[in-house]
Amino acid sequence: MALHVRGVVLPDDEVRDIYLVGDRVTYEPVAGAETISDGGYVLPGLVDAHCHLGIARGPRPITGLDEARAQAAADRDTGVLALRDAGSPYPYPELDDEAGIPRLVRAGRHVAPQRRYLRGVGIEVPAEDVVATVIEQAKAGTGWVKLVGDWIDRTVGDLAPAWDPDTLTAAVRAAHDAGVKAAVHTFSEHAVAVMVRAGVDSVEHGTGLSLDLIDQMARQGTALVPTMINIATFGGIAEQARPKFPGYADHMLALRDRLPEVVRSAWEAGVPIYVGTDAGGGIDHGRVADEMLRMHEVGGIPAAGVLAAASWGGRAWLGFPGLVEGGLADLVVYPEDPRADLRVVRVPGRIVLRGQVIL
Ligand SMILES: [Zn+2]
Repeated sequence: MALHVRGVVLPDDEVRDIYLVGDRVTYEPVAGAETISDGGYVLPGLVDAHCHLGIARGPRPITGLDEARAQAAADRDTGVLALRDAGSPYPYPELDDEAGIPRLVRAGRHVAPQRRYLRGVGIEVPAEDVVATVIEQAKAGTGWVKLVGDWIDRTVGDLAPAWDPDTLTAAVRAAHDAGVKAAVHTFSEHAVAVMVRAGVDSVEHGTGLSLDLIDQMARQGTALVPTMINIATFGGIAEQARPKFPGYADHMLALRDRLPEVVRSAWEAGVPIYVGTDAGGGIDHGRVADEMLRMHEVGGIPAAGVLAAASWGGRAWLGFPGLVEGGLADLVVYPEDPRADLRVVRVPGRIVLRGQVIL
């Protein structure tokens, strides 16, 4: 049974008739197709470019596939029809291509420094084991590895790079040699400088980025996923740490406060920016609209730019075709024009994933 959707299709901005045949899009009329939506604005399915299906509130690793399914469903029901899992302590390859689950691009486990990262989440290794671990985790994921570039070092009372610069650089090279992309978690100024120069593919958070590094990212095409709603929670983290680590607390607040400027500068410089909630752990799944609105209202990115980042741009980045002839049958319909008022993305009118009506 084919489905028919008519509306203003973005980004082309033309009224079109879309036919969904199985999991494919066609603009060739299909006789007898059932019209499920007529009117409004039709976008390729949204993308959460940084979240974690394998991490539950705590944060703790999930204990079974149904927990990952439930988190994926919370995302899907807001229009997120593809996601990049930026590190999972619980492998769930069974969900790749499962009906009802957004399309997945997965990193393996976080490759992290020893006794410093979130307990039980990453594979914690000394410098000499980083390259071998990256190669192993490249096989565990589907196209990405996740590196923890910095975290608190309690011996210095502040954020510090996970390993020495040569090891960080070698980790990126090992990922590329293994045929995958490398994403790096960084909060501080130091690790991100090493990683951008090493040619990392995406900077996650990136609160410590300088203007020079932003320019280098634009030249290289290095992506930024700022996870703004997560960074907005730094206040709580800082105040909890303040009695023991006042320098760390002050640093975290300063990094939090400069993120909007980082996002604005990166946008103006032409850095590819994507929408990631960092859901899993501290942030609940299903908050893509909050991140989109924060990028617009606080980060200063125009609504059309946020929509590109969250929809067709994010999909292209992850390798999922949008609403083109032969593309994938994932779409979201909004009753009003989200370019005119981005708050429209809070309430989708229709959601179709893999050719199946979700809403
Ligand atoms: Zn994350």
